Amino acid sequence: MRTDIHPTYYKNAKVTCACGRTFEIGSTVEEMTVEICSACHPFYTGVEKIVDTAGRVEKFKARLAEAESRQTRTATVKTTAGKQIEAVKKTVKSKIPSVDEGNNKKSGK
Ligand SMILES: [Zn+2]
Repeated sequence: MRTDIHPTYYKNAKVTCACGRTFEIGSTVEEMTVEICSACHPFYTGVEKIVDTAGRVEKFKARLAEAESRQTRTATVKTTAGKQIEAVKKTVKSKIPSVDEGNNKKSGK
């Protein structure tokens, strides 16, 4: 092993988890803080736990709610537009004389 090129190795580096558990490992960093460990990770506990460090879950939920409300709004707009088109068609039909009436007038001359 060459001298003066290796970092200091701490055989008993202290790790502190966000759940409160502390344990020792071998590391070049003397002390570290982690967000999740084997004592609180869902894989080991079997209980769902969402690790949210930057409010990402809240942001996602807000976006999801917004998207869902937009979808329902679009659906209502589509249905009202369809009804309006049908109403216009009805008024146009009533104003235009039917084809039979026009033929009768021409044949009468
Ligand atoms: Zn933990």
